[in-house]
Amino acid sequence: MIKTKKQGLLIVLSGPSGSGKNTVCDEVKKNNSNIWESISMTSRKPRKGEEDGKAYYFVSEEEFEKNIKNEKMLEWAKFAGNYYGTPRESVQKHLDNGEDVILVIEIQGALQIKKKIPHALFIFLLPPSMRELKRRLTERNTESKEKVMERFETAYKEINELSKYNYVIVNDEINDAASKLEAIIKAEKCRVDRIEEVFLDSPEEKIHETLVDKNLENKIVDVNKL
Ligand code: 5GP
Repeated sequence: MIKTKKQGLLIVLSGPSGSGKNTVCDEVKKNNSNIWESISMTSRKPRKGEEDGKAYYFVSEEEFEKNIKNEKMLEWAKFAGNYYGTPRESVQKHLDNGEDVILVIEIQGALQIKKKIPHALFIFLLPPSMRELKRRLTERNTESKEKVMERFETAYKEINELSKYNYVIVNDEINDAASKLEAIIKAEKCRVDRIEEVFLDSPEEKIHETLVDKNLENKIVDVNKL
């Protein structure tokens, strides 16, 4: 009775460094094979165990800047002294393939996407408390003390942008946060404006088509035109 839009949903998951975005996202992907996570590009040096082309595409500053100049990035930002960004091409490919695409990115980049694609789904992940955030950042032992403090201070500024997102999840417990994220995505996919056609018993008995089509026209994502 319902024909849904072929193009996938663009999901932006943000939150301070240490809020657990990657862990929650990985958990959701385990149960949802139709979600594709974009692989970002960064000028940060790989941490122990991080593989090029899996965790990130690790490039030099010069190479990153060349990609910006050549308009290869859908969004990019400087965070804690390094460049981070989303390569444009693969996002479009996966969306057009009907997959839901998730970008796990910091706030400046998310706000660039919001300007370009306001109908994407914007979700903010909060730590249960600032004390807990500091503990997680310190205990994961991936940055120097100064870098941890820099990330912690940035977190306050980032949380100030919370109201620009559609949903907020407190990451108190991974499974609970992941099931909330999953529920939000599921609900979003049931939105009337994601439906191409609604009909009764046969496609000839269409209802709710013109209005929906009109909405759809404004909602097809073409990142190459942004
Ligand atoms: P980390 O160095 O801890 O891997 O990442 C630092 C921050 O950059 C995190 O908040 C992470 O989500 C964010 N980040 C990762 N990839 C991207 C990206 O493609 N674009 C933007 N704007 N931020 C990103």
